[in-house]
Amino acid sequence: MRGTLGNKDGAPAPDTIAAIATPAGRGGVGVVRVSGAKVPAIAAGIVRRQLAPRAATLAAFRGAHDEVLDQGIALYFPGPRSYTGEDVLELSAHGGPMVLRLLLGRCLELGARLAQPGEFTQRAFLNGKLDLAQAEGVADLIAAATATAARAAARSLTGAFSNEIGALVNALIELRMYTEATLDFPEEGVEFLRAADVRGRVSAILAQVSLVLARAKQGALLRDGLAVVLVGRPNVGKSSLLNQLAGDAVAIVTPIAGTTRDAVRSQIEIHGIPLTIVDTAGLRPTDDPIETLGIERTWAAVACADVALVLVDAAAGGGIAEEDAAILAQMPIDLRRLVVHNKIDLAGLAPRVDPRAVPAGGGESARPERHVFLSAKTGTGIELLRQEILGIAGAHQDMEGAFLARARHLVALRDAIGHLDAAARHAAGAKPPLEFLAEDLRAAHTALAAITGEFAPDDLLSIIFSRFCIGK
Ligand code: GDP
Repeated sequence: MRGTLGNKDGAPAPDTIAAIATPAGRGGVGVVRVSGAKVPAIAAGIVRRQLAPRAATLAAFRGAHDEVLDQGIALYFPGPRSYTGEDVLELSAHGGPMVLRLLLGRCLELGARLAQPGEFTQRAFLNGKLDLAQAEGVADLIAAATATAARAAARSLTGAFSNEIGALVNALIELRMYTEATLDFPEEGVEFLRAADVRGRVSAILAQVSLVLARAKQGALLRDGLAVVLVGRPNVGKSSLLNQLAGDAVAIVTPIAGTTRDAVRSQIEIHGIPLTIVDTAGLRPTDDPIETLGIERTWAAVACADVALVLVDAAAGGGIAEEDAAILAQMPIDLRRLVVHNKIDLAGLAPRVDPRAVPAGGGESARPERHVFLSAKTGTGIELLRQEILGIAGAHQDMEGAFLARARHLVALRDAIGHLDAAARHAAGAKPPLEFLAEDLRAAHTALAAITGEFAPDDLLSIIFSRFCIGK
């Protein structure tokens, strides 16, 4: 556990911070939050009386000249039983920007300073109120774009993810104790390790970390979502498909080829996963400078996408025309893609998914491709497309077990798996190289412990907390 904030190495107690904790604009209620040693003095200066701990007190909030700034509810949480672990004051006032600014100004006048983004949560972390994965859960819950993502963030916040990591760290610590002890008594070493079933234990931990990684990968999808780009020739129905997926008219649909000259982005949700869909300018040879610019932007959007939907016109000859094959051939080789045959209503076809229906360009396509047949106009086959998008992105139907992981968590879990793999190899030999084994286990331990912040360097902490909102 990291040391407490206040008296680390005899350092002076941290200053008192204050911020408006509710969003800008007008609302029924607005909250000013204060944390630090000056809270009792600030409370006395504003409400002019003793506040009972953890009780809602209706009070007049007063300015420097005893004038009433507002009337509201004051809540006093003496440390350490508070969000930050320090003395905390929360003033719930009326939610007008001016009232809140006056109240905040009053707190500053009485000795607080403006809080940095995430500084309340950073103090909670430094005071051992929550670990780093939980602190990240707070920010992710606030930022969650879908209900499923919010539930996954709430699981991280309440410690479900941290508990899994904690159990793995404990198992590793126990294992390290055996190997380190063996290093000290090498003559009994190998027998001792065998008796303790070090090999079996490494495999068990490895299997468990792999399970956590699988759940974390699902969570990363929930948190970061997917960027899906729509590409194809003009008039194949890209904008219509975007509208159908989004459920309202976000792009202009017209029968004039080349209408979408710029990339149009919309946020949608498929079974809890947030998707950014980018509709692009139709791809065709052109001399028009504006259209050329649009086509350049299309390729830029393709380069940033996780999944590409390549649209072709099922009504025009039913299949992949030469121009479509040229577009497919230009797609980055490692970009996941689906070929969408649109306008099946005109072609008189039924909706379906066809793995590798038509080889691109009339020849043998380089790799298998899934083809979805649908109508963007009538909506038939759209659900098939949704399922295919989730499938190609590696999303499961059931997201309820997902941990809302961040990229750094995935990196740490993969690092731990790498080190545990090496440990498993070393433990499998007839004469395990004890130093290597001990080092692998130490490295796996460090990687996992970084998730909950036990060994997190300060610059990582400032990056994480600077992305919070002010007042949190
Ligand atoms: P984009 O240029 O690729 O974005 O194509 P649009 O979405 O603007 O569509 C071009 C034309 O095709 C419009 O007149 C649409 O109404 C029409 N269209 C698009 N999808 C379908 C479809 O599935 N069936 C039919 N019958 N018409 C469609």
